[in-house]
Amino acid sequence: MLTGGGGKPDDAAISRGPPITPMMEQYIEIKAANPDCLLFYRMGDFYELFFDDAEVAARALGIVLTKRGKHLNRDIPMCGVPVERADEYLHRLIALGHRVAVCEQLEDPAEAKKRGGKSVVRRDVVRLVTPGTLTEDSLLDARRNNYLLALARARGSATDDRFGLAWIDISTGEFCVAESDRAALAAEIARLEPGEIIVSDALYADADLAPMLRALPAVTPVTRDVFDGATAERRLAAFFGVATTAGFGAFSRVELAAAAAAVTYVERTQIGKRPPLSPPVREAQGATLVVDQATRSNLELIRTLAGERRGSLLAAIDRTVTAAGSRALAQRLAAPLTDPREIGHRLDAVAALVDDGAARADLRERLKSLPDLARALARVVIGRGGPRDLAAIRDGIFAAHGIAERLAALAELPRELAQAAEALRRADAALAAELARALAEELPAYRRDGGFVRAGYEPALDEARALRDESRRVVAALQVRYAETTGIRSLKVRHNNVLGYFVDVTAQHGDKLLSAPLNATFIHRQTLAGQVRFTTTKLGELEAKIANAADRALALELEIFERLAGAVTAADVAIREAAAALAAVDVAAALASLAVERDYVRPEVDASLAFAVTGGRHPVVEQALARDGGPFVANDCNLSPPQPEGGAGRIWLVTGPNMAGKSTFLRQNALIAVLAQMGSFVPARAAHIGVVDRLFSRVGAADDLARGRSTFMVEMVETAAILNQAGERALVILDEIGRGTATFDGLSIAWATIEHLHESNRCRALFATHFHEMTALAAMLPRLFNATMRVKEWQGEVVFLHEVVPGAADRSYGIQVAKLAGLPPGVIERAKLVLAQLEAEDRISPARRLIDDLPLFAASRPAPAPAGDAALTTLIEALAALHPDEMSPRDALEALYALKAQLAKRDGDGQN
Ligand code: ADP
Ligand code: MG
Repeated sequence: MLTGGGGKPDDAAISRGPPITPMMEQYIEIKAANPDCLLFYRMGDFYELFFDDAEVAARALGIVLTKRGKHLNRDIPMCGVPVERADEYLHRLIALGHRVAVCEQLEDPAEAKKRGGKSVVRRDVVRLVTPGTLTEDSLLDARRNNYLLALARARGSATDDRFGLAWIDISTGEFCVAESDRAALAAEIARLEPGEIIVSDALYADADLAPMLRALPAVTPVTRDVFDGATAERRLAAFFGVATTAGFGAFSRVELAAAAAAVTYVERTQIGKRPPLSPPVREAQGATLVVDQATRSNLELIRTLAGERRGSLLAAIDRTVTAAGSRALAQRLAAPLTDPREIGHRLDAVAALVDDGAARADLRERLKSLPDLARALARVVIGRGGPRDLAAIRDGIFAAHGIAERLAALAELPRELAQAAEALRRADAALAAELARALAEELPAYRRDGGFVRAGYEPALDEARALRDESRRVVAALQVRYAETTGIRSLKVRHNNVLGYFVDVTAQHGDKLLSAPLNATFIHRQTLAGQVRFTTTKLGELEAKIANAADRALALELEIFERLAGAVTAADVAIREAAAALAAVDVAAALASLAVERDYVRPEVDASLAFAVTGGRHPVVEQALARDGGPFVANDCNLSPPQPEGGAGRIWLVTGPNMAGKSTFLRQNALIAVLAQMGSFVPARAAHIGVVDRLFSRVGAADDLARGRSTFMVEMVETAAILNQAGERALVILDEIGRGTATFDGLSIAWATIEHLHESNRCRALFATHFHEMTALAAMLPRLFNATMRVKEWQGEVVFLHEVVPGAADRSYGIQVAKLAGLPPGVIERAKLVLAQLEAEDRISPARRLIDDLPLFAASRPAPAPAGDAALTTLIEALAALHPDEMSPRDALEALYALKAQLAKRDGDGQN
């Protein structure tokens, strides 16, 4: 998305017309180089925006639009934001999808003056602020990663295009690459939720991808050279200062192109600054559970359908105590694993900390007060760090060593924790000690504030500070002396930015200093209503001394800062790995804490097709009910293949009235699979999960209103995707599919869908429906199992027991539910009468008749391809034979007519 823009007066106008000021000339030149950004142009204590930028920003930020001078006889619109509050304004502009180029003054204005009256201060853009390249805490969510994603395509024939994805969080240094096919692409992007996506111009304009790309926030098209495959390897190697990228692992060409594009974009936006990125880590295809966007939203993994974190699975399970831990947990939840061994390693770590409560509590206590090491590191390395970031690194390294020791004391040290301990020990303790020596107790937010270096650390600095402070004492002494010599007891020495130090007396004493002999010492500067102000030579001298000493002290502090930042940069790899290890320990301890608190059990995860959950609970609903004091009814679910020797998994068809708990049951089993594969214990008494490779969850249209796109079409498109994609290892959750249309339509679609899942997809599935007629299908489909929600009827009322039991619901209890909802008694009575009448007329259920009449599964076996359409084949061949690049426009037009004629002939044939 290119926004901001505008504000670029046409070049021709610059050369003629009234002369423009040198400053405007500079502005226009810089703006022309950054046409797709709002330009923050530094002038003293403000960033100013001009022309269209000013109008866009004033509207977006609600700040005053003013004018400054004229350009081509028109007023120049202008608005400004104070430098100290720039972050806040940047945040709002970025959130609105703008990009901002920050243009700084590169020299002291005094330097410019020396070059002559007309010279402008040298300025240039030092950074492009874009949604995917943020580093400031104030611009970021502490608990979420903010990825820049580069997307590259390698053309294959027709449907087998390959996509390279490279994603970087420059605020933490994480850098990964992966390859994807067209079918899984959207799911991959959905899991990463990138803050910004870059694609080449060509891809951005591609007819196939455009609809998907345009629907995503913050997609930035960039010039093709950024994605150039020929130079990719070289650019990537250069970024990391290595001769070849071979050491990073084997990447495909399209992965290399994406990775190189990502680092090139980072370089272009950071302008000369190199964030501490880890070398790219390749994620093997199929290593993570594929969960598409619809399923993610529907299962409310990271946020609810309403878009909130509260109420999501993430919020329900997040017991981490650090921001980095929270990010790592969200990552795991967004991308559960598929390799049972890797999952086992994570579970081992959780189990060890479940067993050792003392260690768990101790580790969490140590982690609790930890700063965000990774983000502090990134800021220091990229030159945007402050004294508090150095302190964060100091504290992080010290804590890392303490935690490593605590881990070493564990009775058993599973692989994941052992690796973490090792990384923690590698963090540079000498560096932390040096930082501890250098930094003062109280630290300012910015290094320009000074005062962050501890007294006694650097003799030259102590000296400058002593001089500054001593001179201040001399000034105080001078006040006493002046009061004595003048006999004016109320005389004060004060300071302001205009006059510097000055002698301040009330108006009534002014004359005394203005006349001889005192006027030889006191030089008049200012007369106000009640005050008269003077300077003296002595005060002037002291002023200069103090200013010099203060300047020198600050310069020395900045030098020390640079030195320390340099030392941090030199140790960045070890610090980054320690930060990741701290996050991993936090996640393991948090998941252990959750397991103990909520009584979760370690799942058995293997490569089988089992899916057996005993006493399963819904992790989110359970906690919500617990808050209201209600019990959650645990339920079993068994989708394991019926034969012990293997075969495909089962499908459960769950019937029961509305509000009985069908949706909750379906989702809880999907969530248990997600939790198990992310390496968490699960809310159940026991669980055996054969890894799932793709998870699908769909809800009938009527339940989908929250997403504001409740159409039957969407429901069907999504169902189609499942039936086309789900394989044997998939887990499919279908909740009331077919509800968005007329009853018989809906029933027929649901019916055919189940048959297809059973016969073609052969996946494990849970299917909830209020069409209880469908339970008859179990008679024909051997792996279909009927389950129903138990309800009790009591004195004409329905009581939901939330218990899943074998069998079929014989009726919908719709009228009872309506009664519970408070429909007027007259309506209820009337409805009962109508129902009785309908039931009397329709003794034999339509489903029974279907079972009797329909040949088994004929419909769900793939139909043979329609008998070869010869005319169509001819048409395709004719099209394939064309070479547009070699045709003249006239040839092309003729070919087009010829094709149309063939088509008309074919349609004519077909219709008769
Ligand atoms: P359905 O899909 O059958 O209409 P839901 O799954 O939406 O029913 O559940 C309706 C309500 O019943 C939920 O909001 C929840 O509070 C409650 N509920 C569902 N399952 C259980 C359970 N196992 N134990 C306790 N309460 C439950
Ligand atoms: Mg439901």
